[in-house]
Amino acid sequence: MNEDVSVAKRIVDSSRRIVVLSGAGISTESGIPDFRGPNGLWTRNPEAEKLSTLDYYMSDPEVRRRAWRNRLESPTWAAEPNAGHRSLVELEKRGTLELIATQNIDGLHQAAGSDPDLVVELHGTMREVKCMTCGKRSPMDGALDRVRAGEDDLHCLEPDVQGGSGSAVCGGILKSATISFGESLVADDLRRAETAAASCDLLLAVGSSLSVYPAAGMVPIAYRAGANVVIVNAEPTEYDSIASAVLRGTIGEVLPRALGVSG
Ligand code: NAD
Repeated sequence: MNEDVSVAKRIVDSSRRIVVLSGAGISTESGIPDFRGPNGLWTRNPEAEKLSTLDYYMSDPEVRRRAWRNRLESPTWAAEPNAGHRSLVELEKRGTLELIATQNIDGLHQAAGSDPDLVVELHGTMREVKCMTCGKRSPMDGALDRVRAGEDDLHCLEPDVQGGSGSAVCGGILKSATISFGESLVADDLRRAETAAASCDLLLAVGSSLSVYPAAGMVPIAYRAGANVVIVNAEPTEYDSIASAVLRGTIGEVLPRALGVSG
């Protein structure tokens, strides 16, 4: 492992345009479980996948009620950034970090101090809600207040500007502003991430099983364009064979060492 960390550190030190692809694994040390790791939400309860699948969410009020209960109890609200997030802030200070494309929806990169302009949230954010009819976005806090006050399946209270609902309010189904399975990514976000991957000299994948597309596709895009690939993840990933270094340790411990920062 020490040798792999040294190889990774040499690559990081010689790189000038670093793009990070982060996944749920960077936030587990902040107390937010991942989906597919050994203690992942879906590993323990495959049924939970339904809550993140658009068709189930839109068609089944019971799925929405469970989703709102889960949101209320999410460990994300109390979570603090950890050494992994902080080490990327230190990397940014050196001026060699081009972009953090994150699959995470927890906002912890920004909470750690990463420049929000350098963070692309490919799968959206759970810190906002969106109306599935009128598209209006609003802070999650207000929606959770409504759940605490007794609502269990939230609908949009914005004025119905098109008059389609036949009432004064829009009435559309509210959902967290995350990208569910079956929902398209925001085209501009994906384009920005893929363009950065195609022109970086190091693609650093941190805490991702690299099994969710199109996000994982950033890795082969960067590799084909001639960039080094460094993977930091506790378990094997699909792209380990094309990586210049694979670090299997705990992110909060290994990533600061590979970046040569305090974390
Ligand atoms: P994933 O759950 O598929 O994979 C996470 C990987 O991280 C696993 O391979 C696991 O072994 C590894 N890992 C976990 N903790 C680690 C640690 N401390 N050190 C080293 N490795 C560690 O995650 P993914 O690839 O990001 O894809 C899952 C999807 O889940 C994404 O779309 C994301 O939107 C969503 N998600 C996000 C959060 C979050 O925002 N924190 C949490 C759960 C799921």
